[in-house]
Amino acid sequence: MMDLTLFGKQSETSRLKALHNDGRMPHALMLTGERGIGKKMLARWCALLMMCENGAEAPCMHCRTCNNIKNDDHPDVIFAKGEKYSADRIREIVQQTALFPNDGDLRVIIFEDCDEMTEIHQNLLLKAIEEPSKYNRYIFTCENTDAVLPTIKSRVVTIPLSEMSNPDCVSCLVAKGVPEQEATKYIFRLGKNPGKILEIIKDKKKIALQESAEKIAQYIADENEYDTAREFSGYTDREELFGIISALYDIVSRALLPDYEGEGAVKRLKENLSLKKLYAVTRRIEELNSCSDYNVNAKVFAAYCASQLFDVIA
Ligand SMILES: [Zn+2]
Repeated sequence: MMDLTLFGKQSETSRLKALHNDGRMPHALMLTGERGIGKKMLARWCALLMMCENGAEAPCMHCRTCNNIKNDDHPDVIFAKGEKYSADRIREIVQQTALFPNDGDLRVIIFEDCDEMTEIHQNLLLKAIEEPSKYNRYIFTCENTDAVLPTIKSRVVTIPLSEMSNPDCVSCLVAKGVPEQEATKYIFRLGKNPGKILEIIKDKKKIALQESAEKIAQYIADENEYDTAREFSGYTDREELFGIISALYDIVSRALLPDYEGEGAVKRLKENLSLKKLYAVTRRIEELNSCSDYNVNAKVFAAYCASQLFDVIA
């Protein structure tokens, strides 16, 4: 289930709630603001507000409709972008708007990153959003409003997202698992944009995992079980451990390519381990990777990884 807790959106949500409660909710909204400050989350929240079954309490977050939307499983909440905008997809959506909604009396169509739509895409949509419709609501999210046709802009009510406060940004990052001190440091360096900060943290983590996998591959080549175990034990997060395993798989399977000389750990593996051992290690890594479906304790699993890999080398 998606966590739709909003941070620092009090002014936007109270404005939207007032519009909803007064029955003045426009048929097309455009949420604008910098990438990473929560436009997509707020768009989902708008869908909850508009469709919730508990009128004045909307969004109640617990009715059937709210639950379905939170689970990304509501037939009348449509995400137009998918992987990428296409003319066919937009035509299909426009056709749907002529039909009754599937479930209730409303259909909400969300156009995330609508600044990625071409002029052709936007023109295809124009007719649908021209007239207020009884059944259809349109929510756009947009960073660069210059990329949106004036004819679209004139038909939507724009809600600019306000800058997040420092404490709101910290709370948001802490809720996503970033230690408070680290969150404060990042905000100081990168500004009050939790999405941007999370992306950078994720990239940094990915690089660190890749480096660990490289080290472990070298230790395997040197048949150094002690340092392999030590490297693995530095991780206590399941997702990170499986990240290492999959990076390790890439390295070891490259060492299996007969015509590939490789460098670094790949080269060392080729030089030091027999083909038979390399195969055995690759197979063991595959087995470890398949454990990702089981609910194993990360600490125990870290120790298990090292012992399993050396089981086939010794
Ligand atoms: Zn509800």
